[in-house]
Amino acid sequence: MVYSNGTLKDHGHLEPVQIPWDEYFMDICRVVGEKATCDRGRSGCVIVRDHVILSTGFVTSPEGSPTCDEVGHQMCGFIHEDGKKIDHCMRNNCAEQVAIANAARVWISLEGATLYTKMTPCSVRHCAHLIVACGIRRVVCDSTYHSAQESEEIFTRAGVQLVYLNKEVTEYKKKK
Ligand SMILES: [Zn+2]
Ligand SMILES: [Zn+2]
Repeated sequence: MVYSNGTLKDHGHLEPVQIPWDEYFMDICRVVGEKATCDRGRSGCVIVRDHVILSTGFVTSPEGSPTCDEVGHQMCGFIHEDGKKIDHCMRNNCAEQVAIANAARVWISLEGATLYTKMTPCSVRHCAHLIVACGIRRVVCDSTYHSAQESEEIFTRAGVQLVYLNKEVTEYKKKK
């Protein structure tokens, strides 16, 4: 069998071991993020239940509004509880918000679902709150980010399982 451009082979999962589910959905998440319209973070989000994708979303502006790629960012400074000031681009919805909203548009409940995203969902723009509020029970991130602590506390209080995939993969390999 011949694969064009060698992309499938480069993926590294073809054989002999099946790609684990978390890596599989995180790979899809990365592709979804390629549609994002703000270069400060072209991230995507995939929401799954029982290994079936319920919804996807990527960072972008609401329908009808201009995107960062078209007109530039809309920066806004926030002061976190620990006193750190961080600038965020407010022109977009986060990928998590778009994925949750997309599910709502087609009448899909996210109760008990797992959410995949590039970095720890934010607290400052209420992604962590929203994830808890819509019944998502597990959050899988590719990596953490500098002000993840507030979100981690929100998930802990709600009993939402938070998984960092890189760490898990490392542990998985060690077992062999
Ligand atoms: Zn932007
Ligand atoms: Zn967010």
